Amino acid sequence: MKTLSSQAIDKESICILGIPFDANSSFRKGPALAPSRIRESYFSCSSNLWTEQGVDLGALKGLYDVGDVDCSDETVAFEAITQRVATLLKKEARIVSLGGDHSVTFPIFEAFAKKYDNLNILHLDAHPDLYDVLDNNPFSHACPFARIMEKKLATRMVQAGIRTMNGHQREQATRLGVEVIEMKEGNDWLQKLEFQGPVYLSIDMDCLDPAFAPGVSHHEPGGFTTRQVLDIIHRLRGNIIGADIVEYNPDRDFGSVTAMVAAKLLKELIGRIFTNRLSKPIV
Ligand code: MN
Ligand code: MN
Repeated sequence: MKTLSSQAIDKESICILGIPFDANSSFRKGPALAPSRIRESYFSCSSNLWTEQGVDLGALKGLYDVGDVDCSDETVAFEAITQRVATLLKKEARIVSLGGDHSVTFPIFEAFAKKYDNLNILHLDAHPDLYDVLDNNPFSHACPFARIMEKKLATRMVQAGIRTMNGHQREQATRLGVEVIEMKEGNDWLQKLEFQGPVYLSIDMDCLDPAFAPGVSHHEPGGFTTRQVLDIIHRLRGNIIGADIVEYNPDRDFGSVTAMVAAKLLKELIGRIFTNRLSKPIV
């Protein structure tokens, strides 16, 4: 992965963008530290840079680490995120962002929605993140998909891995037209699900069972195995044009166990996006 100025970025590029922001976490801070820790694990000599599906990321032209968004001023961080993502999308790049609490998906997605028509979201999470407001904060990490759907930024939204549904969020899901696949429903959904048009994939690390990914703020047992999330990345029927990996909290990790999971998901996501791009024109 190369680090360089944005001049080289074009329609062949896949960009890794760090978002060190956790001001909207309701329970524990920590996800602001995620981007650098996931990068460390990505480059760890304990593994190699080939994806399971045969893409050599070490030799992939157009794969760039474009650094972090400056989120030092919390009051303007959302604007900074939207602007940075929009600049990369203008150059037709694909983007995978790392880190931040889940509130960052809203400003990221605002830029994606301006770029793409008929945009779908697949959201993997223990939590629906559909609260109207949490702790007097409408931009809490528990609210991003309510904001996205109210603004009609997505044509279709599907969420899976959910195991904390409550009355309010069930009403919100119905009101906002969100398709919810709860964890208790089993695993058949992946074979049945198919998206028309571009797909944005938002991965909250707590979609995984805490046994596989303990480095998250909210431990919610009964989640996906690492293998299940990799299967989703590999087998999802749809054209993935962007993704985020959020809510990794290094302060809660044991060693770098969860960082390695996030780095593995990142590798397979890059490989998947690269493969999609070979088989389909820009949408
Ligand atoms: Mn979330
Ligand atoms: Mn969550």
